[in-house]
Amino acid sequence: MILEELRAHVLQTALLLPKYNLVWMAGGTVCARDPQTGYVVVTPSGLDYERLTPNDMIVTDMDANLVEGKFRPSVALNLWIGFMRACSELNAVVHTHSPYATAFSVVHQPIPVITETMADWFGQPVPVTRYLSVEDPDFPTLPVEVMGNGYAVLLGNHGPVTVGKTLEHALERAVTLEEAARTYSIARTISVPVPLTDEQAHASFDYYHNRYGQRKS
Ligand SMILES: [Zn+2]
Repeated sequence: MILEELRAHVLQTALLLPKYNLVWMAGGTVCARDPQTGYVVVTPSGLDYERLTPNDMIVTDMDANLVEGKFRPSVALNLWIGFMRACSELNAVVHTHSPYATAFSVVHQPIPVITETMADWFGQPVPVTRYLSVEDPDFPTLPVEVMGNGYAVLLGNHGPVTVGKTLEHALERAVTLEEAARTYSIARTISVPVPLTDEQAHASFDYYHNRYGQRKS
């Protein structure tokens, strides 16, 4: 069995998704690239993470061709790989159905940078795509384009995707995004929220990435 360590790491990350209330049952996906081989490890879709072992993880190449695994990769794998292909620095993708972020994907509204924590991790608003079925020809490419040089995108009427240099960073972004979406929803019931300006969001992101000594890409 190849990439044993990364398989275990992907499964450990997937097990944290329900713990943080980001998915229920078998929802969501965790995907990571091994920088040495360029191979990708991804969770099988439609199966309860609690019942899975590292051996159940799927290993493919960057063209989504199966390298090792007893389950077939889902059609969405082309999208997860697309995010990593777009940036050589990004080695991890986390997709969830977290309720507040998903609610914004349902109303097709981006999430502005409304807290400093969100600025530190994203540096810019989180955009949303139109609804894309997996059979839509734009499914594997449009979300990557809409995300641009950011670290998250909402798939319209579906849920959020976050990316990172590591699985820890992609997961922390998934948690931070859900927290921000929840806070934004609460704030809107109180009054009119005041998002950070682009300059403020960029400055906060830059500070944590380049000066604070904790690079978070
Ligand atoms: Zn999904």
